[in-house]
Amino acid sequence: MGLAILTITSHIPTNNDGFCEAGYEHNFCKMDIGRIDDYIAEVHETDKIAQQDDKGSVKRVYLGIESDFFHDLSTIKDGMDILETRPFDYIIGSMHHQVPIYREYLKHLGIPVGSKEADHDIIEQYFHDCKLLCESRKFDCVGHCDVIRCFKTLYDQNAFDPKSHEESIRRFLASAHAVDMPIEINTSGMRRVKEGVRSEIYPDPVILKWAKEMGVRITLGSDAHSVDVVGAEFRGRVMEVLKDVGYTTACYFEQHKRIEYPIEGLAEMK
Ligand SMILES: [Zn+2]
Repeated sequence: MGLAILTITSHIPTNNDGFCEAGYEHNFCKMDIGRIDDYIAEVHETDKIAQQDDKGSVKRVYLGIESDFFHDLSTIKDGMDILETRPFDYIIGSMHHQVPIYREYLKHLGIPVGSKEADHDIIEQYFHDCKLLCESRKFDCVGHCDVIRCFKTLYDQNAFDPKSHEESIRRFLASAHAVDMPIEINTSGMRRVKEGVRSEIYPDPVILKWAKEMGVRITLGSDAHSVDVVGAEFRGRVMEVLKDVGYTTACYFEQHKRIEYPIEGLAEMK
C-alpha cells in the first residue's frame, strides 16, 4: 500500500527578490511567475492520469501551493493575486525567515541577526509573525512552523528550546485553533542533520504536544523537493511522534475544504 492521496505544493513564484534566498540565483526554488498556469495544467493532468490508472496506488493528485507570508501583505501582492485567481485545493502559508526581506525586517525592529543575544528576540518575533500568518486567513495550513531552528537566522541553531518560548508558541497555536487552521507535520526537518542541525520533524514534538492539547489539527507534508523523499518517515518518525502525542487523524484539502482521515494506515505504507 502506498499513498492514495497526493497534493503537490510547489513554491509560489514572485518577482520580489526579497524572497529569494541569499546566495542563490533568482527564484532558485521557485518557478518563473509566467509558468504558474503551466504548473496548474501539469498537476491537473497528473490527477487525470491517477484517476484513470487502476493499478497505481495514487487515486487523486490535488493542486496545492506553498506561499510565503510577510506581515506587510503588499510585499507579496503578486503571490496573493495568484492565490485569489487560481483554483488551488490547498494553500500552505509559510514563514521563510531565511530570505533577505525578513532579515532586513528584523534589523529594522532593532534585532541584530548574527549575535547570540539576539536569538531569543528573533524566536519571539518569528512566532509572533506565525500568529499574524494565521490571523491573515489567507491560507489553509501553516507550513513547517518551527523552521526558525534551521537556516542560520539564529546565531546558535541548536539553541532553540520550545520550552523557553512556550508563551509565544502557545499564542500562535491559539490563533491557529481560533481560525481552524491545521499545522503541517513536515519531514524535511529530518534531513537537516547534514547542516549540523538536530534531526527532527517540524514541529518539535514538544510543540506538537501543546498543539494536540489545544485542539489544533495537522496535515502531513514531505517538503520533498525530489521524488525519492515523498512520504519518507511517514511510517517511521512521524507515526512514532503522532502516536506518542495522541493524534489519530490528519487532514488534506479539496477546494479548501478540510477532509479528515485516520492516520493508522500510514503504519502499513510501503
Ligand atoms: Zn517552506
